[in-house]
Amino acid sequence: MSDFDAGLFKPICTALIEAFASEGHHLGRSNAHEVLAAALGFWTYSLVRQHATPLATRLVHRYERREELPRHWAHLTKRIEVILGVSTWAAQALVPIVHRIVLDSGLAVDTHSLIFESEHLSTRDSILKAIDDVDFAPTKATVAMRRGLLPYPTRTSLEERLHDVAPQYAREFGKRTAYLWLKPSTQIRALTPAVEDSYSVLNNTARTSLGLNFTIVIPDKDFRGKPHFTLLSPTMSFDEAHPDGWRVNLIMKFVVTDAQQQASGEPKLEDLIGKSVADLPEVKVCPRCLTLHMHPELGHHCTASVNAIGITNAIERLRASGATGATTDQLSAAMVAAGHVETDLATLEQFLGRHARALRLRRYGGVWVFTKTQAPSDSLFEQRFEGLNI
Ligand SMILES: [Zn+2]
Repeated sequence: MSDFDAGLFKPICTALIEAFASEGHHLGRSNAHEVLAAALGFWTYSLVRQHATPLATRLVHRYERREELPRHWAHLTKRIEVILGVSTWAAQALVPIVHRIVLDSGLAVDTHSLIFESEHLSTRDSILKAIDDVDFAPTKATVAMRRGLLPYPTRTSLEERLHDVAPQYAREFGKRTAYLWLKPSTQIRALTPAVEDSYSVLNNTARTSLGLNFTIVIPDKDFRGKPHFTLLSPTMSFDEAHPDGWRVNLIMKFVVTDAQQQASGEPKLEDLIGKSVADLPEVKVCPRCLTLHMHPELGHHCTASVNAIGITNAIERLRASGATGATTDQLSAAMVAAGHVETDLATLEQFLGRHARALRLRRYGGVWVFTKTQAPSDSLFEQRFEGLNI
């Protein structure tokens, strides 16, 4: 189990002590810890520590703030009554002050670490139960999971998350030099999708979104040659109709520049990371199996039986002979003709389905139609076939 890090509590406790003093109440440091723990929903501060509760700063950006009734109101009132030995009325007057300070600080339980890091597996139910206020409908997907309204995702390791992002990522960004920022800060609004955790019900249908707790950063230049960063934050949602339940369905994309950041009063990206983007671990798409992996930490030695390069070569051969599409059998035969090892048809079929868009294929009936091909009769809309986008 990881150790509890009390660092984020410190400045907020100081703010609480000062705010209580200006209201005529003396609040010692250890009692400030108790008040803060109660504001998050915990019974005592020692429980926060005992569960090694992961904490994070989740800044709610001004224009995203919803007018929401503060949670744990009754609990916090009772705790302040006991801690300070004051009347209910006096405690009630202090509750909004505590809520304002906590909201402004952005202090929150890091619910993503609870889901994605195995070290929190044994305590995540207790922690989510604490932060859940049963007087309200859940607004967090993680809390809805604890209540049994949603299943917990099963593919949670970094390797699995990267694997599930790969098909969407490879088709657009596979060729780019890209870096992985794990647990990105929320001090930049463009990074908040990485830590989204939302749940709502509309017309009996649950809408969910859970960020994967990482952002892929691509250093780039605009058309005038000015540097900018493309930030890609994948999110997943729960889909009852999908066999895996949870699936990665969206990669949120934002472009930021230093000038823009400064103009909006937000820190520069690299100041926030604390180092150059190029010093973050690199993420790469394997040109053979099209998986996404972190480099060099999760070094990838490709042992996949399907070879995307072979598929691309086969498509090029078939196109050269005038074909505009092919069945899986025909693609397999063309791969062998191009000198590649034969692949089991079922495996090939599954791979083509998963990576169709990255491979520039579209399925019609039993045929894989080649997209982005040059149609001889249609030179006006001539497009050069660029092969696999990796
Ligand atoms: Zn590979």
